[in-house]
Amino acid sequence: MNDPTNIIAITDKLQRPLHDLRISVTDRCNLRCTYCMPREIFGKDHPFLPRAELLSFEEIARLAASFVALGVEKIRLTGGEPLLRRNVEQLVAVLARLCTPAGKPVEVTMTTNGVLLAAKAQALRDAGLARLAVSLDGQSDAVFKRMSDSAVPVRVVLDGIAAAQRAGFAAIKVNMVVQRGVNDHEIIPMAEHFRADNSGIILRFIEYMDVGNTNGWCMDEVVTATEMLQILGARYPLRPIDPNYRGEVAERWAYTDGAGEIGVIASISRAFCHSCTRARLSTDGKLYTCLFAGSGLDLRAPLRDGASDLALTKLIALRWQSRTDRYSQLRQAATEGSASTATKKVEMSFIGG
Ligand code: SAM
Repeated sequence: MNDPTNIIAITDKLQRPLHDLRISVTDRCNLRCTYCMPREIFGKDHPFLPRAELLSFEEIARLAASFVALGVEKIRLTGGEPLLRRNVEQLVAVLARLCTPAGKPVEVTMTTNGVLLAAKAQALRDAGLARLAVSLDGQSDAVFKRMSDSAVPVRVVLDGIAAAQRAGFAAIKVNMVVQRGVNDHEIIPMAEHFRADNSGIILRFIEYMDVGNTNGWCMDEVVTATEMLQILGARYPLRPIDPNYRGEVAERWAYTDGAGEIGVIASISRAFCHSCTRARLSTDGKLYTCLFAGSGLDLRAPLRDGASDLALTKLIALRWQSRTDRYSQLRQAATEGSASTATKKVEMSFIGG
């Protein structure tokens, strides 16, 4: 692996270090979640990226090494649906060999909808994938099929999670986006399901966000973390527990009866821009410094024009050092969170969740 460096860890204009990198490996998905890739927009005629536009694994690996030189210690593969990218485990294997300038192995993780996980779990584990987050918005087929706008039964995702556990993945996270009037009645059934048998799975409830421009977001549909905790706590008493590390996005809570832990991600009601250390690399090689950004810095053009590793690293460093993004906090301040701002934002499937 190349050594594009001798550049030290950097911070942005708000003193936030660059610590995490999310890489979208495909803009395609095998589900059409209504809040993320609504079929009216992402239908048969949607112009997904042609293959030549996608970064190759070699290109991703080169850029990833530059990010690592600047402080990145965790890489999350996402999408679209990352398991749709052919041989994605080969990319995992290459990334898992990266080490920080201090010699620490980079942690490679993935967020998936789990539909193809049963077939892929062992290969991912063998390739060095450290951790998995699986998205699942309900435990009833009716809710899941409606939200994912697909015919996939919940069982397929649960089988994927079970296969991942057998392959040796521990503390798998299950992410549930909660939308009022759509799946909020699934909060308790989901908690019940994953509490059972001390499954070791950590269920995380996520506030519905105004990402992209296609989901018609409005605040009325957001069930806040406070509300979710009230609903859960009334059934199963909870106590707060310390974050695993500074700046952890999920707030952690333990069931007082010892049946494990849950998390809530209060992206809307308690925006955490001040501790955001994430950069995002889109499927076509653009660097985004905020999930809600309207444009990104093209890294693919210089990469394909023959830029050196050092030149690429410097481009990334300059962009990070000029970063001032804090979209969610500004939204909250401007509107008390009641409406999405009118700006044109990139779609989440393109830069990865
Ligand atoms: N296909 C993969 C999956 O389903 O996990 C990875 C990509 S998906 C964009 C990543 C995560 O973003 C999923 O957990 C999804 O539920 C979440 N997500 C998408 N749109 C969202 C929104 N508007 N608000 C909150 N979370 C959202």
